[in-house]
Amino acid sequence: MKISKNIIEEIKKHAKEEAPLEACGYLAGKEGSAAELFRMTNIDKSEEHFSFDPKEQFRAIKDARAKNLSLIAVYHSHPNSPARLSDEDIRLAHDPDTVYVIHSLLDGETKGFRVVNGEILDELLQIA
Ligand SMILES: [Zn+2]
Repeated sequence: MKISKNIIEEIKKHAKEEAPLEACGYLAGKEGSAAELFRMTNIDKSEEHFSFDPKEQFRAIKDARAKNLSLIAVYHSHPNSPARLSDEDIRLAHDPDTVYVIHSLLDGETKGFRVVNGEILDELLQIA
């Protein structure tokens, strides 16, 4: 997935602001290129997992559509663990077409993954 440096910086900023809780949101774009970030509320208010607010989810889908974009990635932060999908992240990753981006505040890394039939595939984040 192509992603701008600005969006990476936005993810890092959001992660820092929400710490010690997990930050989460969507990236909208098209043709494998992330164009816009939507911050979402982590209604779990947890340091180890997140859930989106269904109303905000609906609004993000609508906003993206209005801009002729679709939601191509879900990002979230790991305040206390490395940039790897947790067992629960894998369990909840239902869509093989969605890129899951994790920013770790532990090691400062930002990584992308896809989950296809329960198998984790690395997704290169190409800074464009
Ligand atoms: Zn996670």
